[in-house]
Amino acid sequence: MKIRKGDKVKVIAGKDRVRGHTGNVVRVLPERNRVIVEGAGIAKRHQAPRRQNEQAGIIEKNMPIHVSNVMILCDKCGPTRLGAGTDEDGRKYRVCRKCGSEL
Ligand SMILES: [Zn+2]
Repeated sequence: MKIRKGDKVKVIAGKDRVRGHTGNVVRVLPERNRVIVEGAGIAKRHQAPRRQNEQAGIIEKNMPIHVSNVMILCDKCGPTRLGAGTDEDGRKYRVCRKCGSEL
């Protein structure tokens, strides 16, 4: 997975209510190739209280979005693709394919 927790992304495909949304990645689910984006993909669950102190009513839950449906946001160019670079020490880093700045 190229996308990491904390990345700012834009949802470019998917259901109408999440498309176009931008937010930070709050969780990555590598085994499912999905990410959870802050405020995006909210599913409303109507839940009855089962135990004491459990929240009842409508719970808003961030739903995982497939990574192919999000694009990372570059500070300069907006939605972009990620490229890979390697520094002198052999460490890999991610770059914006449009402007080449590190992400
Ligand atoms: Zn850029």
